Amino acid sequence: MGELTITFCESVMYRAFKDIGVTPLQFQIYCFTCRQFFTFKDYIPPEQCWAGAHKWTKGEFCRPDLVLHKGKFDAVVRVDGSIHDKKKNIKVDHIQNKTLLEHGIKVFIIRNEQIVEYSNRKLRVIDNWIPMAYASMIWLMMDKDKLYKELYLKSGHWKEFGLVKID
Ligand SMILES: [Zn+2]
Repeated sequence: MGELTITFCESVMYRAFKDIGVTPLQFQIYCFTCRQFFTFKDYIPPEQCWAGAHKWTKGEFCRPDLVLHKGKFDAVVRVDGSIHDKKKNIKVDHIQNKTLLEHGIKVFIIRNEQIVEYSNRKLRVIDNWIPMAYASMIWLMMDKDKLYKELYLKSGHWKEFGLVKID
């Protein structure tokens, strides 16, 4: 488990949500066993999960970039860079996404290149309204299961980045 840092793209998406009037939660850790989110600010996770006091070994928790709650609905937003294209990471992401969905948590993936670009060797936001458009769409779909399943989970975007087939 690497250091807990906020990337530029994560902060762009955080601000985009704030701009549409939604405050996402950061520094969240999700326990697959207890099915609960916890706020987590240290670099190293405790050996045991707070809630269940069971051992936390690899694969029993994940740290989503942004977490949203809307009524009884939960969602995580992953803001992914190209490190997630590595075979090892693809597999881990796939398992995490699948488990989150099984637990009724919607998973949304924003790719860095969808919101930022290098311009004059400087990382910058493509256009302010684009991250805000993603944030609005995500917020809209959060409590609309049908829309999420039929539009988002069947999209090419999801097929490419969300549920990559593992051979
Ligand atoms: Zn737990």
